[in-house]
Amino acid sequence: MRRLRCLGLMLALSLLLSCCAPKEYSAQTFAMDTVMSFTSYGREGERAVSAAAAEAGRLEGLLSVTRPESDIYAVNHAAGAWTQVSQETFDLIGRCLELCRACGGALDITAYPAVRAWGFTTGEYRVPGAEERVDLAARIDYTAVELDREQCRVRLPEGMELDLGAVAKGYAGDVLAGLTVRSGAESAMLYLGGNVHTVGRKPDGSLWRVGVQDPQGEGYLAVVEVENQAAVTSGGYQRFFEAEGETYWHILDPASAAPARSGVLSATVVGDCGLVCDGLSTALFVLGAEEAARLWRTLGEFEYILILEDGSVQITQGLEGRFSLAGSGEGREVQVIRP
Ligand code: AMP
Ligand code: MG
Repeated sequence: MRRLRCLGLMLALSLLLSCCAPKEYSAQTFAMDTVMSFTSYGREGERAVSAAAAEAGRLEGLLSVTRPESDIYAVNHAAGAWTQVSQETFDLIGRCLELCRACGGALDITAYPAVRAWGFTTGEYRVPGAEERVDLAARIDYTAVELDREQCRVRLPEGMELDLGAVAKGYAGDVLAGLTVRSGAESAMLYLGGNVHTVGRKPDGSLWRVGVQDPQGEGYLAVVEVENQAAVTSGGYQRFFEAEGETYWHILDPASAAPARSGVLSATVVGDCGLVCDGLSTALFVLGAEEAARLWRTLGEFEYILILEDGSVQITQGLEGRFSLAGSGEGREVQVIRP
């Protein structure tokens, strides 16, 4: 009899707890060439995740380099003429150009002719010859992009083309997180490929735990805890091909129009703005450890994790206490970068 009562009590308790726990809602979509997955909690969670999935599709339509209806496609096919774009695209290009400048050109949103020549858009991979690379590098120059604020127009010299691939998912994360909050959700986790965007904390009040992938193996090598922030990773392992024993990845050094080889295998940037984190993660991958630290000391307002070729890890001071090695990362050397 006593056991029955105890069982009844436990059942009532678990029922009560499941009623109190906020309901979880998820949605998946494929946009911007990546699988996106959104999880949101609470009463408005369902509305939030379906709105996010629809919005991701809209942003792809606006910013895609391959879709003929996109603003970016129109600019790239204008043969040197002015092209009118939406206010949103115009503002985004302006912000991207500022980021390119802040990174000293390591991030350059005019890399498209080179990205295409290596086959990273089409999947028809090839290694352009030395002469071709010199020509491609000469066509990467964000300072040649002209903006006409009055008429919301953009102009590129003929032969140059925009590619927002290094920043678009970060921007999408910002937009989707804003939408999720406006939909009434207080807690959400948005995965956009290598980009993670969090809204608030987890429903139980703890921080979100974001895994940092092992660029040379399966699974995670570290975990970083975040709240209301983005954590964006750029890594050579995310898209690459092999030819004659050499690995060529999709992040190019604008100076050489060839895959960046800086000794960095992956760069994760943590900060409040997804667009900035995305642009910087690409830039840090190109710049390498020394220049990354210099940029962090000058710009501030972001933190980073670098996984280097020798297997060691660097984190910036702001991540101390929020970063821990895990899985294949256990026992690795971690260097803390300080101001
Ligand atoms: P991410 O994964 O954010 O580092 O962005 C990589 C993508 O951005 C590539 O697939 C290219 O489309 C483009 N890209 C490659 N190298 C650069 C670069 N140095 N600056 C800007 N965009 C780049
Ligand atoms: Mg990026």
